[in-house]
Amino acid sequence: MRLTGLGVSHGVGIGRALVLKRGSRALRFRVPTALVARELERLETARARSREQIQQIKSRIAGSAGAQHAYLFDAQLLMLDDEMLIGRAAEIIRAERLDAESALQRALDQISALFDQAEDGYLRERKGDVGDVVGRLCMNLRASGDPAELFATLEGPLVLVADEITPSVIAQLDWQRLAALVTDAGSWTYHTAILARSIHVPAVAGLHTASTIISPGALVAVDGGTGEVLVDPDEDTLRQVRARQRRRRAYEQSLDEYRALPAVTRDGLSIRLEANVEALDDAGRARVSGAEGIGLFRSEFLLAGAGQAALTEEAQYTAYRRLVEACTPGRVTIRTFDVSEPQLRLEHAGLEGPRAPLGLRGIRLSLALDEIFQAQLRALLRAAAHGPLRIMFPFVSGLEEMRAARAAVARAAGALRGRGELAPDVPVGMMIEVPSAALTADLLAEEADFFSIGTNDLIQYSLAVDRTDDRVSRLYEPLHPAILRLVRLVARAGIRKHIPVAVCGEMASDPVLLTLLVGLGLAEFSMAPTAIPLAKQVLRGLNAADARRTAAQALRARTPEEVSAALTELLAPQRI
Ligand code: PEP
Ligand code: MG
Repeated sequence: MRLTGLGVSHGVGIGRALVLKRGSRALRFRVPTALVARELERLETARARSREQIQQIKSRIAGSAGAQHAYLFDAQLLMLDDEMLIGRAAEIIRAERLDAESALQRALDQISALFDQAEDGYLRERKGDVGDVVGRLCMNLRASGDPAELFATLEGPLVLVADEITPSVIAQLDWQRLAALVTDAGSWTYHTAILARSIHVPAVAGLHTASTIISPGALVAVDGGTGEVLVDPDEDTLRQVRARQRRRRAYEQSLDEYRALPAVTRDGLSIRLEANVEALDDAGRARVSGAEGIGLFRSEFLLAGAGQAALTEEAQYTAYRRLVEACTPGRVTIRTFDVSEPQLRLEHAGLEGPRAPLGLRGIRLSLALDEIFQAQLRALLRAAAHGPLRIMFPFVSGLEEMRAARAAVARAAGALRGRGELAPDVPVGMMIEVPSAALTADLLAEEADFFSIGTNDLIQYSLAVDRTDDRVSRLYEPLHPAILRLVRLVARAGIRKHIPVAVCGEMASDPVLLTLLVGLGLAEFSMAPTAIPLAKQVLRGLNAADARRTAAQALRARTPEEVSAALTELLAPQRI
């Protein structure tokens, strides 16, 4: 079977499918032979626990509504002993080495198909009861198994196939054992795609039904460059994919020599290249890739699945200090939490929620939740005593917000000094990712020590294209004349007001778009660590004066196609 989606993280990965469904919050996988007995035992424990629970419910109902209503639960108790359910699930575990949840689900599907054929309406309705019992069994199975622990015991390499993968799921898994990621949802600037690129795992998104049609344990080959996903490929195809994988690795190795070289154009323009980082451990990888520092630490990733404890000043101080110390002498730019209100509430509970795009989010939420904001700012200022650190605010839409955020930093510094602690002066800047901020960059430059253009959101809000919705990803167009004009406006404001302007959105990691950005007057970029060697290679072969001429031509273009034509003359993209 061959599926095609959007290749969102380059590279080729081959492994066994581990299927994850967010809706049911369950991982489906094939267990090693040695662990079959353990799965059978889990099934048995879940059955015993379910029996106890149903008996308790039955006596409660009998007490409150009368014994005649309790008989419904007798049927459920009988189902727990029915060979067609538990017996069949155990048989599937033994024969196919599926995990207990998947085996139960399969048994339920088979029973449901039988009920569907029944003539008798009463019997057809019993299908719901079986579903209810299976739901309870699965709930009890989940209570007995820690997915992270299970994951550690599976035979690798694994390809994670999910309807949707959130950062906390990735945080739970040992991603070093992941050969690739495949998701039903998502697009290039989807956070999981960004994460996949930064941890260097090939990924394909926007596959719609992959998590339904790929069976756990199937052999899956993923090409994150072309967006191809092959399920149980034949020997010949597998050989071809392996050859492609070797070519890709050789190409990546050929870029290694650029890691240590400076990013200077042929005509001598020095470019600053920094890394975007989501996990504390990535600081080391950023340095190895040749990054001069960290241009964007997405601090909200500290909260992923970690709950309330991650919000304390002390926990954050420890994290930021670790980051700063790992990067010294390079500087670290830490962005304050970019989460939405429902997301923060759920993170509190150790769960995850969507980042509501236009609600109480980013700096708006921080300004509304002063206690949480102050704790983060105090932690940042304390960490700044250990090395160069800059504070950056996300999602600022106008001058008043920036002024209020700066005032909050001053208050946090005052509180620290009041405690007799150091509160160093740190540069305080902002993301330019809301169109109103880009259009008023000249005004904002009076209040900000630096800008970093977040092209991911700037493009989505300027063009009204949801960056996570693959159905409109065709319209997500970095080369739209509106985007070029906005970027130019911000770059000019920075030059006139003498403040540095970087680009930290994904646009910077595309070699062609990078040259355009240089032509538009930018000389500071932040990107996934893995994108840095290629960026250096491209920049070292570039003439900045040519890039400026091309950008001027691109600014006169009327459509993305015309912009693209102007760029093609400057540089043929280097891709495998
Ligand atoms: C951006 O919007 O470009 C950005 C870098 O931030 P994020 O991707 O976290 O929204
Ligand atoms: Mg953003």
